[in-house]
Amino acid sequence: MAAEVLTRAGWQVDLYDAMPSVGRKFLVAGKGGLNLTHSEPFTRFLARYGARHPYLEPLLRDFGPEQVRLWVHGLGIETFVGTSGRVFPVGMKTAPILRAWLERLHTSGVIFHFRHKWLGWNVDNSLRFDTLGGEISLQAEAVILALGGGSWPQTGSTGAWVPLLADRGVPIMPLKPSNCGFDVTWSEHFRTRFAGHPVKSVALSFTDSKGNDFHQQGEFIITETGLEGSLIYACSALLRDEIALGGPAVIRLDLAPGWTHARLFERLSRPRGSKSMASHLEKSVGIKGLKAGLLWEFLPKADFADPERLARAIKDLPIPLIAPRPLEEAISSAGGVAFEALDEHLMIRALPGVFCAGEMLDWEAPTGGYLMTACFATGRAAGLGALEWLGYS
Ligand SMILES: Cc1cc2nc3c(=O)[nH]c(=O)nc-3n(C[C@H](O)[C@H](O)[C@H](O)COP(=O)(O)OP(=O)(O)OC[C@H]3O[C@@H](n4cnc5c(N)ncnc54)[C@H](O)[C@@H]3O)c2cc1C
Repeated sequence: MAAEVLTRAGWQVDLYDAMPSVGRKFLVAGKGGLNLTHSEPFTRFLARYGARHPYLEPLLRDFGPEQVRLWVHGLGIETFVGTSGRVFPVGMKTAPILRAWLERLHTSGVIFHFRHKWLGWNVDNSLRFDTLGGEISLQAEAVILALGGGSWPQTGSTGAWVPLLADRGVPIMPLKPSNCGFDVTWSEHFRTRFAGHPVKSVALSFTDSKGNDFHQQGEFIITETGLEGSLIYACSALLRDEIALGGPAVIRLDLAPGWTHARLFERLSRPRGSKSMASHLEKSVGIKGLKAGLLWEFLPKADFADPERLARAIKDLPIPLIAPRPLEEAISSAGGVAFEALDEHLMIRALPGVFCAGEMLDWEAPTGGYLMTACFATGRAAGLGALEWLGYS
């Protein structure tokens, strides 16, 4: 995005990437359908960035959901709004967007240098790169760093830049997993039976020790080590921060959101005769399979004989989460270069002429297109900032 802004204004841009090609995480993001942005009202959209939204607001006002869609249309790819309000490219894929985008950048004169790993600065402030032919040094009039966070390091975003900037006195918040799964101590029986299975149509509630509330209906997946998926990602920041205080974080599941407690109680109180408890649960209130498995996993056996306690557990089943999954497995990273270290053009105050953009900045947001949109917006803002800087220097 920054390269586009600068070449349009007539500047020569050289783009360096440690990997043999660019946009690897962008491509990974398209695997399950590339969610570019979200169509909800702008104030709600902004709120998704939590405490950092005041820093991002001016950038997102300049280049927000509407501009992202127009920009993709400009690459010859139409977009559509899904039932959830999420915005996708027609065809759901990243590759056609990346191909058209790279072609446009090539045509406008951007020079790509692959397998060039940035190593920091020399004492004369030239940039150091590790290349196949050995280390090289380069001078630039302005530098834009868009090095990503620390998740999915196989795509190139290793977070190895953190000490390079920290050594120059740039304040950096530690990289942490965001939109991540969590560990739960499943029994061997439960894990073997249900790992890989989706838990659908449940409502998840969580209140952290500061009183922040989360409540949402949706779905997630049971994994070998715990759980993951869109409903878990949506509250992963709260859960992660709670566990960091000494955890666990206990989520509460409503396994039957369409039922009242009273109706469940009434049905469960009916005589079950010779039916097994599993059959009684299924026939009277439709709880079976994985949902029944969750009850057996967390509810004391004696409570199954008590319709009141059983109904309460179906509406409010506590599940303790003991640890977030490692950063490498997360969809995105929290933490990064602190906004306080940057001016309003995303230039590092301590390093005039050096700008930062994308996930390497200290913000986080849930899945839903918010990640990509803020990456585009900050990339463009850094490009505009560099343009202004070059005008003065
Ligand atoms: C599985 C998955 C699905 C996702 N789905 C979505 C989605 O649907 N919607 C959405 O909005 N977001 C999604 N995301 C998040 C989104 O992909 C990222 O937020 C976004 O790609 C970050 O962009 P970035 O340019 O800041 O960093 P990156 O895309 O990580 O790019 C950083 C680049 O910097 C290079 N680099 C790093 N260090 C160096 C160095 N020292 N020298 C040279 N080059 C270096 C890397 O090789 C890489 O090319 C998903 C992420 C994952 C992992």
